[in-house]
Amino acid sequence: MIKAFDIFFIFITLVVFSWGMNKRFRLWRIGRDDNRSDRMWVRLKSLLKEGIAHRRILQDRYPGFIHLLVFIGFMVPFIVILITQFVFTLPVSISRIISLTLDIIALAAIVSLLLAIYRRYITRPSRLDNRADDFVALLLILFILLTGLILEGLRLSVIGRDTQALAPAGKALAYFFNMTGLETATKSFLAMIFFRIHFFLVLGTIAYIPFSNLFHIISSPLNMIYRSLEPKGILSHLDLEDEKAESFGIAKIEEFSWKHLMDLDACMRCGRCQDHCPAYLTEKPLSPKKVINDLKNHLHVRAPQVIKAKAKGADPEEAPPLTGSVIKEDELWTCTTCRSCMDHCPVFIEHVDKIVDMRRYQVLMESKFPQELTQVFKGLETNSNPWGLGRDARGDWIRELEVPVMSEMSGKDIDCLFFVGCIRSFDDRNKKVTEAFVKILNHLGVKFAVLGVEEGCCGDPARRVGNEYLYQILAQNNIETFSRYNIKRILTTCPHCYNTLKNEYPQLGFSCEVVHHTEFLKENIRNKRLKLDHALAKRTTYHDPCYLGRYNGIYKSPRQILKSIPSLDIREMKRSGIDSLCCGGGGGWMWMEENIGKRINIQRLEDALTVDPEWIATACPFCVTMFDDAIKNKDMEDKLKIWDIAELVELSIFGVKK
Ligand code: SF4
Ligand code: SF4
Repeated sequence: MIKAFDIFFIFITLVVFSWGMNKRFRLWRIGRDDNRSDRMWVRLKSLLKEGIAHRRILQDRYPGFIHLLVFIGFMVPFIVILITQFVFTLPVSISRIISLTLDIIALAAIVSLLLAIYRRYITRPSRLDNRADDFVALLLILFILLTGLILEGLRLSVIGRDTQALAPAGKALAYFFNMTGLETATKSFLAMIFFRIHFFLVLGTIAYIPFSNLFHIISSPLNMIYRSLEPKGILSHLDLEDEKAESFGIAKIEEFSWKHLMDLDACMRCGRCQDHCPAYLTEKPLSPKKVINDLKNHLHVRAPQVIKAKAKGADPEEAPPLTGSVIKEDELWTCTTCRSCMDHCPVFIEHVDKIVDMRRYQVLMESKFPQELTQVFKGLETNSNPWGLGRDARGDWIRELEVPVMSEMSGKDIDCLFFVGCIRSFDDRNKKVTEAFVKILNHLGVKFAVLGVEEGCCGDPARRVGNEYLYQILAQNNIETFSRYNIKRILTTCPHCYNTLKNEYPQLGFSCEVVHHTEFLKENIRNKRLKLDHALAKRTTYHDPCYLGRYNGIYKSPRQILKSIPSLDIREMKRSGIDSLCCGGGGGWMWMEENIGKRINIQRLEDALTVDPEWIATACPFCVTMFDDAIKNKDMEDKLKIWDIAELVELSIFGVKK
């Protein structure tokens, strides 16, 4: 039992712990406001699922289980000791069950800690960087558990025969101490020594938490609670008419919101984001883990200066913009915004938002961006497409087909608008997909129309590279057109248009039902309105587009469509679903030259080649273009074809491409 004398040490520990915590929390408070306190029940459920049950952590099984067992080994005894020492005495039967549970937990946690040390310091996966405090933290927990077990063994050995204990490991140790022939008084003395060591190790570890990477015990659950509950595809809205705003985008660390600063402190440096980053995997100078930790190190230097200046009522000393000083320009611009880092981060850190926020400052305030984007911005401004092709040519593909155009439909009823998008309108390869989808719509007798020359870019290419001003102009133009025609339902074959129209236009006051063609096709196959009669006996693999899968969770529909095609031999790549690698076309890269490292589309094609396909299927114009380019680059046009799913459906309905 705890003695009065010990209360003093507990008190000191709590003082140090609270002081340290306050020091850490104060760092986040230099950030902007961000309301993350809505839907608290959903947030707490997320904590249970992610923090306690380790759902996402367990996605990477081996380190995930190690972490889960160490977590249980650290937390459960702590809670049990608190209850038994300070709250109430438990009945004998419950004590027996608890001692058995604690025994098993302690053993499992010790084995896990040894495995963690082996993994970190012997096998050394490249994604882990080892600092001294990682080792200290592992050793502290290991010694706490070991001294606890030894103490239990000594206690049982001194008591001799303990009717309450049901503790195989403790009893085995007691047996060992009995065999040593030590006097009972010696064992009691040793028990007292081990109790003291154990006690001070526990207190020392608690006091150490705010000053070490053990702080993630606090910051990670908080980060899970306050994670974004917005649809995944949304970037934060920038009020460009805010007269009080001194600048737009992020140039200083204190311009991030408190949640973004908490993100930095929640990073455990596990490296999962880096392992799944297409830029990192193709030797570009970007690691999402490094971005977060460079920002974190900067926060720890800059925040005390800001706090000190504010305490004196002064402005903090000017700091150079983050991009260029803390984050290199190449790091910032090589991100494809594929979101793989975010979907693999066990503590829900929001990498892409930070990267785009820093891009916003570079573009809007400094006019600094990769030179290829100058043409893209110009093209979007003048002709509402990234190549700057004549706006009149947007509807050229329509001419030979029966495609109703909205402006000629006055008075006629339509069920939906088919929003074609720039790539599917202008790019020759992708125009074939548009034609295939139109044929399917006509075959189904859907009352649809397109906007033709009235359609403009959805704005995604501008928004992802930080040109929020241009994005909002493009979006407002489309919104005006949609409103004029009273559009209630939009079909699109482009996941980027889909994401922007569905998730981001509501920030600008427009919302309606937006359906991606894979969902539409799946539904019509399911209700048998589309009959896929013709067999396509080809080895086929499916590539998940980032903006369809990770951004919008549409993984099943494309696969269900492919399964409905007779004789199609479907093969999954190792990196598929949530683990799918980006094609390299997102985040503006469709229009930029990839000069550093290996090209991402080549890497992705090589992923596909591992399953020996004849066909690659996808559901995004960016992916079609990037694969088409990679196939040509590898001189494989005779052996391998890239298809959009709409084309495969067309082939299976009509037998040949009509
Ligand atoms: S969004 Fe994709 S490319 Fe960008 S940092 Fe994350 S994983 Fe890397
Ligand atoms: S950002 Fe997330 S995934 Fe990346 S190292 Fe930190 S905790 Fe791990």
